[in-house]
Amino acid sequence: MARKLLLEHINVPGIHTFDVYRQKGGYRSVEKALKTMSTDDVVEEVKKSGLRGRGGAGFPTGMKWSFLAKPEGKARYLVCNADESEPGTFKDRHLMTYLPHLLIEGMIVSSYALGAATSFIYVRGEMMPQIRILEKAIAEAKNAGFLGKNILGSGYDLELHVQPGGGAYICGEETALIESLEGKRGNPRIKPPFPAISGLYGCPTVVNNVESIAAVVPIINDGGDEYAKIGIGRSTGTKLISASGNLNKPGIYEIDLGLPVEEFIYSDEYCGGIANGKRLKAVVAGGSSVPILPANLILKTLTGESRLMSYESLAEGGFQSGSMMGSGGFIAFDEDQCIVRNTWNFSRFYHHESCGQCSPCREGTGWMEKVLHRLEYGHGKMSDLDLLVDVSKKIEGNTICPLGDAAAWPVASAIRHFRDEFEWHVTNPSDALNRNYGIANYADPLPKLEEIS
Ligand code: SF4
Repeated sequence: MARKLLLEHINVPGIHTFDVYRQKGGYRSVEKALKTMSTDDVVEEVKKSGLRGRGGAGFPTGMKWSFLAKPEGKARYLVCNADESEPGTFKDRHLMTYLPHLLIEGMIVSSYALGAATSFIYVRGEMMPQIRILEKAIAEAKNAGFLGKNILGSGYDLELHVQPGGGAYICGEETALIESLEGKRGNPRIKPPFPAISGLYGCPTVVNNVESIAAVVPIINDGGDEYAKIGIGRSTGTKLISASGNLNKPGIYEIDLGLPVEEFIYSDEYCGGIANGKRLKAVVAGGSSVPILPANLILKTLTGESRLMSYESLAEGGFQSGSMMGSGGFIAFDEDQCIVRNTWNFSRFYHHESCGQCSPCREGTGWMEKVLHRLEYGHGKMSDLDLLVDVSKKIEGNTICPLGDAAAWPVASAIRHFRDEFEWHVTNPSDALNRNYGIANYADPLPKLEEIS
């Protein structure tokens, strides 16, 4: 059985309540940190653990904390990014629904480490049930003396607030989130300054993902060194994966980083293989914004190594033959799924969610969506393929925030790996409309690098 650091007690009846959570050992990390550790000790343990941000960027959490400025007379803030909106990603919602006290426990320890007296959990606006669950859990923790003034007699004060989000995907970008938290339209800010210097209300601020903050609990309980023993290389610890698409057992899995992708897809302990006995065609491994990979390249790298569920292995080969861990939104496509339609669908999402501040993103996402729409609906031209690649290149790296890249990468990678399917939509427009397209054998042996570059 796979080990569980975050989800160990998820099936315990009533684990969302303070009493049951406490009976199962909850809030031990708060007692340990506040009674026996300095703030620097806590930061050091998180650094030693090698924990990397679980929201998508994968930046080392301890290092991010150590960048926080500490000017005299200014407040410091911790903001939990619970604005989970990446298509294919639903793990944070799961944690907040069933283990709200795990997140609150992590927030208390992390806020203590950063010297924050006021912290926020910014929850996606559509998640009203989770907002209510968290508010109730915060009240329980406060009644028990784990929040408010002089927590456990340590002299440390913390107020924790839940803030409903602004209802836009872009509010998950940390500077847009801060703008929204300040009551403004959620437009990303130009960086620098980074939030660690000037964030919420112009004060030093750390923004961390729900899963990252929850992971601080086992790190403090067991020690950073123990956490770092799990995983592989610089991908330490466990990771929650939201598995969806054509899988026998879609759901949320806690895996040790370094698990072979093949085992994750096909073993009964995890996804149990492709639904209805079909063949795997492609995978989007880290949420809709990462490059799509055909079956052969998600199972093995170009050099023939088994592809692993780790930051490094998923990225091996760069964007020519690799992808990214991202947020861990793992979407599997069987042999009957249309890549052109899926790419159009993603593109439609990014066009809709672009905040419109930068021209390459505002205009480029619109053009990509339009061109993909006409390809999918049988009105495309061969030149559209190069046009899409050209537009994606014009967006990539030329925008204020990563939404531009997130919109460009799925399109560029889909054409790179499935060009024949795009061309087939041009040459067989009526069949494409009827979804009666031919499928290449994507489980064929590995292609040579020059064939896919
Ligand atoms: Fe807005 Fe897109 Fe520019 Fe981000 S990249 S700031 S979403 S226009």
